[in-house]
Amino acid sequence: MKKDIEQKLLAKNTSPTSMRILVYELLEQQQVAMSLSDVERHFYKADRVTIYRTLKTFEEKGIVHSIQENNTSKYILCHDACDSKMHNDSHLHFYCKVCQETTCKEEFILPSVSDHKYRIDEIKLFAKGVCEKCLK
Ligand SMILES: [Zn+2]
Ligand SMILES: [Zn+2]
Ligand SMILES: [Zn+2]
Repeated sequence: MKKDIEQKLLAKNTSPTSMRILVYELLEQQQVAMSLSDVERHFYKADRVTIYRTLKTFEEKGIVHSIQENNTSKYILCHDACDSKMHNDSHLHFYCKVCQETTCKEEFILPSVSDHKYRIDEIKLFAKGVCEKCLK
């Protein structure tokens, strides 16, 4: 388990420090995006700055992508297709008003934007509603 995570971090040119392994492990267990405070709640002993830096490093290395929600960022693991040069996460992010969880909806993908004369660096596709769990 720990070895797997080490491999995954190394594959994205990130040295597997113990903090990074712990944060990765936590994110891997979640199906939903987590904010800095959510991650912090799992690590009483680590300070907020260290966790913040870990998440920022992960984002730079293509390990996680962030979702802006009101004034907070939430983080969720990327697929293997992302790396430090480019993220490929142009799918819909869905926020449930009932459970307040944010998830990736990869069935909604934006069309390719590379053949235009202008350059798009980021597109945000964000929806609010009620998730399948809460609709039951
Ligand atoms: Zn990504
Ligand atoms: Zn819900
Ligand atoms: Zn996503």
